Amino acid sequence: MEKDRRVACPRCGAMSSFIPENEWRPFCSERCKMIDLGLWGSDGYRIPDNKPATQPDFDDESGFKQS
Ligand SMILES: [Zn+2]
Repeated sequence: MEKDRRVACPRCGAMSSFIPENEWRPFCSERCKMIDLGLWGSDGYRIPDNKPATQPDFDDESGFKQS
């Protein structure tokens, strides 16, 4: 029984232990996991609910009435 399973981090290739104590497995760290999920840095980190919920395109007497 091998209790020390080693996996290569899919992000940076560093070896890390694939054990329950490693909560970022199979990544080596939180940073690599975040990067891989696209949540790291300004490029992938977006908060969608930050703009007003107005819908100007639908509020302009468009053809919703069928009379
Ligand atoms: Zn890594």
